Amino acid sequence: MYQNILLVEDDKGIVKMVSIALESNKYSVVKTKSGMEAINSIQNGSFDLVLLDLGLPDIDGVEVLKKIREYSDVPIIIISARFKEEEKVEALELGADDFLTKPFGVNELLARIKVVMRRYNINLIESEIVCFGELLIDFDRRIVQINDAESHLTPIEFNIIKYLVSNHGKVCTHKMIHEKVWGYDSNDDYQSLRVFMGNIRRKIKDDVANPKYIVTESGVGYRFIADIV
Ligand code: CA
Repeated sequence: MYQNILLVEDDKGIVKMVSIALESNKYSVVKTKSGMEAINSIQNGSFDLVLLDLGLPDIDGVEVLKKIREYSDVPIIIISARFKEEEKVEALELGADDFLTKPFGVNELLARIKVVMRRYNINLIESEIVCFGELLIDFDRRIVQINDAESHLTPIEFNIIKYLVSNHGKVCTHKMIHEKVWGYDSNDDYQSLRVFMGNIRRKIKDDVANPKYIVTESGVGYRFIADIV
């Protein structure tokens, strides 16, 4: 069955490039350049994913995102030329799943779509034990193993990795992680979070320069990328 993608974009060149790439990869694509039309389409139709430009001719993409999230948890990837770090953070905290900065390559787009859709198809919360190749996490017993050897994470470190894994594929901003793990937002510059992330990476043997598990989105947050094996 074809998966149905709504492409909300007014740049004709990008519409053409993206729809050719999606259709040749067996997605069906509905196109609109109107934010209002996108909101109506999502209310009335069923889409597996939305690609949303922020600079639209009628209403701002951020407003479209807010409206959609009032009634739908459809996966949304923002595609925009305008990204400053604050704008990425805002979009993610409003419920976007991912973002791609223009210009982007179609392979990158297809890869991100797969990751985001997979996240919606796997309910990680329901499984007590998940395995990502060499890394095994037992949520119930709060145990992390690398190559069958237990790696001792502190409670905070465990809660951070649990939050990232349960948001598999999605960028979690510093603020989102802080609120979830510590229960409140921090006014600092998230320096302590960086220290915790450094410890987690060392303990799960992840290489920050060539990560298998956790990717840093500079100035924005972190994303857990590994596949369940
Ligand atoms: Ca635009």
